Amino acid sequence: MSALELTAAILAAAGRGRRLGTVPKALLPFAGRTLLEHTLAAVLEPDEIHAGVVVVPGEHLAAARELAVRHPKVTAVLPGGEERQDSVAAGLAAVGDAVWVVVHDAARPLVSAGLVRRVLEAARETGAATAALPARDTVKLVGAGMVTETLDRERIWLAQTPQAFRRALLRDAHERARREGLRATDDATLVEAVGAPVRVVPGDPLNFKVTTAEDLALAEVLVRERAGAGERRTGIGYDVHRLVPGRRLILGGVEIPSALGLAGHSDADAVLHAVMDALLGAAGLPDIGQLFPPTDERFRGADSSGLLRAVVNHLRQVGYAPVNIDVVILAEAPLLAPYIPAMRERLAGVLAVEAGDVGLKATTAEGLGAIGRGEGIAAQAVATVRRITG
Ligand code: MG
Repeated sequence: MSALELTAAILAAAGRGRRLGTVPKALLPFAGRTLLEHTLAAVLEPDEIHAGVVVVPGEHLAAARELAVRHPKVTAVLPGGEERQDSVAAGLAAVGDAVWVVVHDAARPLVSAGLVRRVLEAARETGAATAALPARDTVKLVGAGMVTETLDRERIWLAQTPQAFRRALLRDAHERARREGLRATDDATLVEAVGAPVRVVPGDPLNFKVTTAEDLALAEVLVRERAGAGERRTGIGYDVHRLVPGRRLILGGVEIPSALGLAGHSDADAVLHAVMDALLGAAGLPDIGQLFPPTDERFRGADSSGLLRAVVNHLRQVGYAPVNIDVVILAEAPLLAPYIPAMRERLAGVLAVEAGDVGLKATTAEGLGAIGRGEGIAAQAVATVRRITG
């Protein structure tokens, strides 16, 4: 692949989108911008795309041009034709010296830079390529409300955009279609009609075409979700329990030989309780007192490792995963150092992170205060979580 060959993208944005009201589809408000601006930024993101030509509804040319020219790669904003094919032809006439063109629908805002690159790479090998998805459902031909034939699903692929072409090939295909009156709903069809091979590249189910108001709302949620993916947040947690005779001492999910144990409704594992509160705080969720009330008999003597597991699942459900934690245990006795490695392993396992993502240390209170007098054990924790999609 030669990076020096000029590559232009044509954004087909002239659709009226009548199912979405009177505003042209591309100019609909979308995730704080317009659909046009969003899809344009997505398709022009790869470094392999050098220029962008945007084709918009003629009667909204001025408004669309004002939005589109803000993107530094945009070289032309043109009025579209009667149908999509006419609009792409108009764009094709304005891509200048480009050797390669990528055609994309403005109504597919969730296109990824990776998909644009993969389609372009395939086109550079064969001359033409399209993103497409294998059919998931059984496909039937229907006439007058009756099945006339069931097609072989293994051979059915649903074409998406981006589609990429050697410019000269696509220009010739459009030229011939115009001469012969051939109409098609995508550019690959025109290239197929001149007998040229079109490579199929696995598309992306998220790269769906926004057609209805429901599609638009769903796409907006996904775009916002994607924008938030990877976001990191931090939380803090603290817990203290009294040391009493006749209880087992469990810290960090590990039982430690001791004459005294921690008193509490559950197993009173102050370390895991501090970690849970730090995780919940990072995700903006209520603390463990609200999640596992001490008045609830279900949690009497509860294994806090199980509660931590429930917290991690709860986090996942609202879209967060643990990244790392750091914990300080404040205890005058017993000596905790020998048990730290086992606690780290235990925590890493439940949090599904590496042992290196679990900071854990113990300190004494130098005889100061209640902890210093050995009346209890306290733990402080910070946790970082990251936004995950899906
Ligand atoms: Mg507690």
